[in-house]
Amino acid sequence: MPEPWYSDGLKFKCEGVSCGDCCSGRWGTGYVWVNRAEMERIANHLGIGFDEFTRNYVRGVGNRFSLIEKRNLDCVFYVEGKGCSVYEARPNQCRTYPFWPSNIESKAAWEEEADACPGINCKGCDHYSRERVDQLKQASRSAAPLTDPV
Ligand code: SF4
Ligand code: SF4
Repeated sequence: MPEPWYSDGLKFKCEGVSCGDCCSGRWGTGYVWVNRAEMERIANHLGIGFDEFTRNYVRGVGNRFSLIEKRNLDCVFYVEGKGCSVYEARPNQCRTYPFWPSNIESKAAWEEEADACPGINCKGCDHYSRERVDQLKQASRSAAPLTDPV
């Protein structure tokens, strides 16, 4: 296997509530994919049942499920100035950003993502080793297509 372009690791540190761009509607509409385990995790965190959770917080998109958005396109769990209201139980997609396969497939893709996310390549960033990047990339895939019936 050839070495990936990020064999020396990557730099990233989320700016948190002072930014919030990827959770708010500032990037426009989008999808926050959730599988069954993730929906159950967030429902438990909220102290509600699975059915109530799916009725109120998710939408079906093909054979997958995504969190809904508010009218202003913010994620349904984003609170302006405070951040994610389900942070401890947030989906893998959120936990693994920006180390998604599409963002690290090439240096150009990573640099393009850095134009949108100020936490990528920032000054004083945390260093993510190649192994850690690969772990996060792999984990981001576990939130992908829901195969078990709901
Ligand atoms: S866009 Fe980047 S820096 Fe801003 S909240 Fe999202 S991950 Fe953090
Ligand atoms: S679930 Fe939380 S971390 Fe994920 S997009 Fe929504 S507000 Fe952001």
